[in-house]
Amino acid sequence: MPKTTAKLEDFEVLVTIGSGTYGTCKKIRRKADSKVFVWKEVDYHGMTEKEKQLLVQEVNLLRELRHPNIVRYHDRIIDRTHSTLFIIMEYCEGGSLADLIARKRKEKTYIEDAFVWQVFHQILLALEDCHRKREGVHKILHRDLKPANVFLDKDLNVKLGDFGLARILHHNFSLAKTFVGSPYYMSPEQFTEELYDEKSDLWSLGCLVYELCALSPPFTAPNQRVLATRVRDGQFRRIPHTFSSELQSVIADLLQTKPSRRPSIRELLESVSQHTTLSPTVQRQTILANLTGKCERKLIQREDIVREKEKALAERERRLIAREKALAEKERLFHKDTHVYRRSPLEPMETNS
Ligand code: ADP
Ligand code: MG
Repeated sequence: MPKTTAKLEDFEVLVTIGSGTYGTCKKIRRKADSKVFVWKEVDYHGMTEKEKQLLVQEVNLLRELRHPNIVRYHDRIIDRTHSTLFIIMEYCEGGSLADLIARKRKEKTYIEDAFVWQVFHQILLALEDCHRKREGVHKILHRDLKPANVFLDKDLNVKLGDFGLARILHHNFSLAKTFVGSPYYMSPEQFTEELYDEKSDLWSLGCLVYELCALSPPFTAPNQRVLATRVRDGQFRRIPHTFSSELQSVIADLLQTKPSRRPSIRELLESVSQHTTLSPTVQRQTILANLTGKCERKLIQREDIVREKEKALAERERRLIAREKALAEKERLFHKDTHVYRRSPLEPMETNS
């Protein structure tokens, strides 16, 4: 989508998916090519001019996130008459991990150990990508990692959504001063010092992986005060015994109350990748996405195209050889027949030549 040319009338609303922390999410269709997206309608009523500018700047930053495991942000439209910002992004048809957890709870079955590892691995890849510094762009933290923000595509690959929106929308802006989301995944440092960094995203990831196994969060309480105490204590039950002790131990590493004790994403990736084998497509897409240089990325993409062309050429050659073989065989049979035919006493050719 071009940078700022999109208009509201370019889209038609198909259905309202639901309302969340930051506004309403709707499934939409681009009229020009019938492509389906979603947009998030964010009401920016009451913001100062400066805050609005910041909001738009931050949403623009989200476009820098291009990774196979991150929901793609496409564009934004500002509707000044209704003080609404429309954030347009990729539509994820496979539902969220929250849906999956709810289904499993109802069925009274656990998610497979191998699938938990795969989801874990892919979220780490997504976080690694957004935590890295880009040229001219500050680090993007997720800040609202929870099952409802992790989607699955049709091949059950992870698409992490709602990146950084928490920062934009909770950052001293009048519309979102209070924490309206469920605070089950809030880290001890958020409760005590209102501090947030990469390690806080990892705490939330620990809660998420725990919930995928246990089908309920590691820390629950009837109110926020009790929850804060339990989170700071950092005591939680073991995940069900159907899950490996390695999984339990890595969750325990993430749920260290001291942020500095939590491992780095690099370290986590090293241990988690021993338990998963990503499909070759995901691996390749990840390699591509991790390349910082545009040039390098272009080269690899070109290499892919050349490889595809080579494959097509080889296939053509194979078909040609097969055709030649078939022709030669036909010819051989023809000559055999001719040979018999030539022997016929009625054949004049032999005598003529
Ligand atoms: P929440 O605060 O729960 O994250 P959201 O506004 O992000 O609320 O989402 C509202 C609803 O829209 C949820 O049911 C969520 O699963 C769905 N949703 C959000 N983003 C997408 C997307 N990119 N594709 C499909 N469904 C989405
Ligand atoms: Mg969301």
